[in-house]
Amino acid sequence: MRITHRVFTDLAIWMTGFGLLMGVVFPFFVLLMGIPSEFVMKPWFFATCMTAGLLVGAANIWLAKAIVGKRLRILADHMNYVKTNLLEIANQGDMEKCTPENCFIEGDSDDEIGESARAFNRLVQALADSFRDVFAVRMFTEMLTSHLHLEKLADKAIEQLIQHTNANAGAVLIEENGELRVAASIGIKNPARLAENDHVKRAFDTKVGKRLTLPTGIVVEGVLAEFRPKETCVASIVYKGAAIGVIVLASAAGFITEEINRLELFRQGLALALHNALIYDRLQRLAAIDPLTGVFNRRFGMIRFHEEYGRAVRTNIQLGVVMFDIDWFKKVNDTYGHMIGDRVLIMVAKTARSALREGDVLLRYGGEEFLAILPAASSKDIMKIAERMRRLVEDQTVKADDTDIRITISAGGVSFPETDVRDEMDLIKKADEALYMAKNTGRNRVVVL
Ligand code: GH3
Ligand code: MG
Ligand code: MG
Repeated sequence: MRITHRVFTDLAIWMTGFGLLMGVVFPFFVLLMGIPSEFVMKPWFFATCMTAGLLVGAANIWLAKAIVGKRLRILADHMNYVKTNLLEIANQGDMEKCTPENCFIEGDSDDEIGESARAFNRLVQALADSFRDVFAVRMFTEMLTSHLHLEKLADKAIEQLIQHTNANAGAVLIEENGELRVAASIGIKNPARLAENDHVKRAFDTKVGKRLTLPTGIVVEGVLAEFRPKETCVASIVYKGAAIGVIVLASAAGFITEEINRLELFRQGLALALHNALIYDRLQRLAAIDPLTGVFNRRFGMIRFHEEYGRAVRTNIQLGVVMFDIDWFKKVNDTYGHMIGDRVLIMVAKTARSALREGDVLLRYGGEEFLAILPAASSKDIMKIAERMRRLVEDQTVKADDTDIRITISAGGVSFPETDVRDEMDLIKKADEALYMAKNTGRNRVVVL
């Protein structure tokens, strides 16, 4: 049926050709109708019929162009307009601007043209959805690459996971020392209990995700009241075949397939980023911790001391420092060997830590010399704390063969700004002087300047 590359030219050829044919055939119809042949079989009659056929053909083409051609033109113009808008919106990355006016064409006619418009709209919708996914993934990946700290990463990740899946609440759990712990949560009541939730544990163990409808034992804190979500999605976070955590998302209305698909898009990236953050966290800890005693090493501990001293100066809040040293430790090593000496060191560090508060910093300053940094502690406070430490150590025993070794410590303390110091190192020097006094006045005692 196709003759040229232009549909209306084809139509013109067909219509005029058909008109001419009609012009040629028409006189014979006339004959059949009983009109005398001397009247019909005349060149002028044929010429008139063919001209009429041509004219009808031409009129048809004009009508087709005016009615169909014009509507096709409008459709093409609208498609171009939508394409321009869509590209612009895609460049800006804000698919919310893709409103019906901007991104869709009106397909009001009940025919092939209307169907073309509707098919075009469906295509645009699919494209807009996929753009939306691309932006969501881009945003999520940007976030993943800009956070290396585990807690911060988990916080941001759950924030975006909730946003992109239209969930109402959620949590990210990670595995640490064989146990799951909540690294971040939003809107979940008693998030710590998630680690004990059977669905969460199963998702972690089986390394698969699951959409669950009630009951899951998860309660969401709403704006006005707590509620149980209609649907909860529990998905494991798997890195190189091993589960490293679990994502929990809860929705009041339930999830749609697109939202779950989006979660799938994020899962891989999150697994890689969490894995990196876990390694970073471990390395940070390794770099900061003394491997024997588990307290901060001198290098990292002094950085913390520098920070605390700076804060004390800025805020004019006291800062206490206690330096303590094991008494006659050389004798312990000489008598029982270094292995037992090490165990004594571990015991002293553990006991000292137990006497301190959460925000206090304990560091191994030298071989068997420790420094405790006590924010907001006065001289009276440090006397109390150091004395408690001394007594706790004195009461402990370390087993060496058949004997129970008892050891003691001496401690020197000082509090800034009660004691005037030139700088942070002077504060340590004064604590050392106090320790020296404690050693010189009989050991197993505390001296606070
Ligand atoms: P004082 O009461 O005057 O403190 O007597 P002391 O014997 O404890 O003397 P000093 O503080 O000088 O002793 C330091 C000893 O600590 C020397 C060293 O053998 C021991 N030491 C340092 N680091 C370690 C360690 O990591 N393990 C063990 N087992 N011993 C250590
Ligand atoms: Mg000593
Ligand atoms: Mg010493």
